[in-house]
Amino acid sequence: MLFSILNSRVWNRPVAKCDVHSACEEAGRESALSMAALERSRTVLALDVGGTKLAAGLVSEGGELLESLREPTRLDTGPQGVTRQLVALAHRLLERSALPVVGVGVGCGGPLDTALGLIKSPPNLPGWTDYPLTRRLEEALQLPVWLDNDANAAALAEFSFGAGRGCREMVYLTISTGIGGGLILGGHLYTGKSGNAGELGHIQVVYDGERCNCGGQGCLEQYASGSSIARRARQLAAEHPESLLWQLEPDPAGITAHTILRALEAGDVVVRGFWDQTIQYLAAGVSSVVHTFDPQRVVIGGGITNFGEWLFGPLRQQVARRTMPPLWQGVEIVPAELGDQVGVYGAAAVALRHLEAGLAGARPPGEAPPAPGRFS
Ligand SMILES: [Zn+2]
Repeated sequence: MLFSILNSRVWNRPVAKCDVHSACEEAGRESALSMAALERSRTVLALDVGGTKLAAGLVSEGGELLESLREPTRLDTGPQGVTRQLVALAHRLLERSALPVVGVGVGCGGPLDTALGLIKSPPNLPGWTDYPLTRRLEEALQLPVWLDNDANAAALAEFSFGAGRGCREMVYLTISTGIGGGLILGGHLYTGKSGNAGELGHIQVVYDGERCNCGGQGCLEQYASGSSIARRARQLAAEHPESLLWQLEPDPAGITAHTILRALEAGDVVVRGFWDQTIQYLAAGVSSVVHTFDPQRVVIGGGITNFGEWLFGPLRQQVARRTMPPLWQGVEIVPAELGDQVGVYGAAAVALRHLEAGLAGARPPGEAPPAPGRFS
């Protein structure tokens, strides 16, 4: 486990039960946390690692984004080069911080091994095979570092600072190019046996439907993600030359989910039927999630929230129609609140929740820090 590795290698203290990852709870250990360090400040450094951009921020315990930086990801430099970029961003923020920074959270697209801090060849980071990002950052920054996938991190962020505040059972669904999710159960992020729970885009809503990249069939992501809506809309335009889609976007390749929104607003009857069907796919997925987890709140983030009440009104109606009344009663389906900063807030939330659980500690007195910037 990550925590035992941290204990033996850098922070010579056993750790408390992890309040963040359900799997870590099984490995609960006594804490020798340096509480004094935490009581002075709970400012954390947040690093959001994407295939096109890197974002970094300093976030207070209360969820205040104090400083932030962004820059394009230089994928051509490989994992070592991108790690240098992250370290440089981190140092710029650390220099600006008036308060001591007590930990670092990292959000990154999966698959990951969060326990070992490894990046395991995500599609958006080609060549990052079993790359030990957590260890590299710890060596360079001399701070405890925790890693989680970006959807789980976003779920924690909405739960801690956004639309999920005040509830203990929350499902987060992010719908942009793809569909991801995260589960807060009993006030904890639920990650499952392999750390990959919450892949809500791969709930199968059509048993004999479209093949999916995951190896499954009929997955929600194949019908209701931004890219799937665009693909289905192009088929719709081809079958319905009377549709307003042609006037709004003469080039079929240019049809996107945004074109659908414009056609809805213009009153296109054909597109209205298409959108109703899209809502049914989403409602089938959300209803399955409600039946499974009995949440208080379903928080929906990502680009699809631009549809506003075109999305939320009919989705609530259709989930209600499909869900057993005792399970539906009291469920709120609401938009996420953190917008395009959710990546930074998410990374911060990962660190803060681990710190809250008592997993951070002071480096043993007299232990020399490793030379900064060591990369293999
Ligand atoms: Zn799938």
